[in-house]
Amino acid sequence: MISYLDLEAINRSFEPDLTDALLRAVHSGWYIRGREDQAFEQVFARYIGTTHCVGVGNGLDALTLVFLAWKTMGLMADGDEVIVPANTYIASILSIQRAGLIPVLCEPDPHTYNLDPNQIETLISPRTKAILAVHLYGNCCPMDRIVTIARRYGLKTLEDVAQAHGATWMGRKAGSWADAGAFSFYPGKNLGALGDAGAVTTDDEVLADRVRALANYGSTEKYVHPFRGMNSRLDELQAAILSVKLPRLDVDNARRRALATRYLAELNSEVVKLPEVDLSAEEELRHGGFTHVFHIFPVLCADRIELQRHLADCGIQTLVHYPIAPHHQKSMVEYASLSFPVSERIHREELSLPLYPTMTEEQVDAVIRAVNGFVYHTSC
Ligand SMILES: *Cc1c(COP(=O)(O)O)cnc(C)c1O
Repeated sequence: MISYLDLEAINRSFEPDLTDALLRAVHSGWYIRGREDQAFEQVFARYIGTTHCVGVGNGLDALTLVFLAWKTMGLMADGDEVIVPANTYIASILSIQRAGLIPVLCEPDPHTYNLDPNQIETLISPRTKAILAVHLYGNCCPMDRIVTIARRYGLKTLEDVAQAHGATWMGRKAGSWADAGAFSFYPGKNLGALGDAGAVTTDDEVLADRVRALANYGSTEKYVHPFRGMNSRLDELQAAILSVKLPRLDVDNARRRALATRYLAELNSEVVKLPEVDLSAEEELRHGGFTHVFHIFPVLCADRIELQRHLADCGIQTLVHYPIAPHHQKSMVEYASLSFPVSERIHREELSLPLYPTMTEEQVDAVIRAVNGFVYHTSC
């Protein structure tokens, strides 16, 4: 059986350092916003290339807190609009709504499944205040073009980097291009904690301080509350774990990339559409980075159910990211009548193949054999 993601094997590969770090945090006697949090914020900011990093409780809060901070800074108000890709994970959209803002859904580029800069401009209204760029599946959005559009219209930009830790665009890390970056360290992400965790990265000191205050009951000093905040802090155990795992992120991403390169070269089924990645454009490699860090390896297949069943018969577990489009969710009824054909096709046909750093070549062989066997309905 090849599991979609073997988290146990991944975390075991960090032993004994992982357990040592946990014990250190346990024995410190300080469990929220202490030395471990501070240390991780520093190394993560340096890694991403921003002057500030604020550890928070999870990815959804990281996104929400940035919008709430901008509101308290007078940069946007209830009912203002934020442009967001229609095919993102629901959390991106929920963060906008939680902050009292209106998500404006944008059809993705059919080749990259990411925000299409040409579409963005058609959606800008007098109420538009921000663009939320999501680096979906680990693939970096064209941030130079998105930031240029935002500047032209005086919009704020936020990157949802929950699936793209360590990805780069033109030599700069995802999470350092926009006014702020929001990260999730949910266990299954490319950089994952052993529970919920998240962070905001930014060069804007006012924004960083405001996010830090809002995540701690709106408090700027103990028992002083100038803002109506919430409770969303990074705990010391998760921070200690993340500090152990961060130094290997680039190596792990390179491994993901190598396995994905094999999929791209060796999968040959006519009925399975592979992600379009320009591996020959070695621009990012020259900068020492990857545009796509393959958090997910998404293929499209018109008969997804049959493909998934065939792979399961071959002992291969797959997942769907995501089976229902956000605008078709019951919680989003106000969007139900809208039509996004590109996004809807992705939701109808997407299937995610197993891909993670501790996966073996033999396991990749088996997945390739099974997918290629699907066309002819032969056994694996
Ligand atoms: C995982 C994820 C989130 C939310 O992160 P949590 O830590 O689970 O709150 C947000 N956006 C995207 C694109 C994600 O994949």
